[in-house]
Amino acid sequence: MKDSQIFNINELSNYLTSKKVEPELKADIFKGVKSNSMALKLTDHIVRLINWDNLIADPIRKQFLPLGSEYQPSHPQSKVDSLSEEKKQVRPGLIHRYPNKILFLLGTFCPTYCAFCTRSYAVGPNTKTLAKSYLTKSQTGKTDTLIDYLKTNVNINDVVLSGGDLLSVQPLIIDKLLAKLVTIKSLRSVRLATRGLLFDPNLFLPNTPLFEIITRYSEKFKQHNMELSIQCHFNHATEISSESQKAALSLYQSGVTIRNQTVLLDGVNSTIELQKNLIEKLISSGIQPYYVYQMDMVANAEHFRTNLETCISISKNLTGAFAGFQLPRFIVDLPLGGGKRSVYEYEFYDQKYGIYGFKSPIISGEKIYYYCDPLRYLEPHVQKEWHGKISVSELYD
Ligand code: SF4
Repeated sequence: MKDSQIFNINELSNYLTSKKVEPELKADIFKGVKSNSMALKLTDHIVRLINWDNLIADPIRKQFLPLGSEYQPSHPQSKVDSLSEEKKQVRPGLIHRYPNKILFLLGTFCPTYCAFCTRSYAVGPNTKTLAKSYLTKSQTGKTDTLIDYLKTNVNINDVVLSGGDLLSVQPLIIDKLLAKLVTIKSLRSVRLATRGLLFDPNLFLPNTPLFEIITRYSEKFKQHNMELSIQCHFNHATEISSESQKAALSLYQSGVTIRNQTVLLDGVNSTIELQKNLIEKLISSGIQPYYVYQMDMVANAEHFRTNLETCISISKNLTGAFAGFQLPRFIVDLPLGGGKRSVYEYEFYDQKYGIYGFKSPIISGEKIYYYCDPLRYLEPHVQKEWHGKISVSELYD
């Protein structure tokens, strides 16, 4: 029964009233909905996972229902499309950043919207604060484009199918696409990126269309010396409910590899203990901890970002706590499309301005990409300098 899903402000208001949420907190939640770049949409499962008796501290509420009072001004270097994905589109919905790997956007909708979404520029409907990129939205999901591109670019051996979420696409379309991909000889890996194991885990249980498709093709891909895997996204141990665990273990026990990527979010999972709990829960659910991302410099999501030192410190403190293959890699996805680098790989750190410089030789030789810490970590007079319109290019170029 889906009686608790919340898809609009009236449903949210009624639900908050039924949970006897204080008027002041209720007003703050409404202010948050107005400030959010992402639309309001909560699946029944997410609504049931939120701890409505401890809303302010709840890590799941923070990701999907930020309070107005939590928002902070964006860093001057932040961008709505912080990874410059639109500039890297080589065909409609196809983002080609690394020589051997391609990202294909299956669609631009999700069952629930994360307030920190890196693809906020295109994902979900327009909101009061952000009109989505019409160009990208209108061009995604054309699967023939992907197949044609792969046939003429045989150096590509890894495809990530993302969006938007896999769950917003009809299983039949996924079935047909995988049937074509498995015949492309140059491919070694296809990854299904989804937060569906959190949003609606029952859709991945045995005897569902999705479970049948994924397990069938996982087997077929293996026969062709290829891998079909799931790339899921859990940020906190409490997100892995008994339903999520059951779905993940069923897939795992049927031979499907599931890898998790986590986004480091201030106040949600930004301590050693919370990351340790998450890794333990992932491992016990048949999921490999794969990446922990330093939060991207996405505009209008500043309160979610930590400084890079927090990420490095958590990484250092977890090394040795798990077997090497169980430990996720802590990475920064470089602004402006520089690609993923280990958090330790920076060329320099300007402590005064909170700027890290990285090179990304495989993408663009000696070019330096800059990741900036949130201004709240800097001295007040330096914060003022940033607000006085200094820019990274003024400082270094
Ligand atoms: S599920 Fe992924 S694409 Fe969808 S809103 Fe969340 S982060 Fe963005």
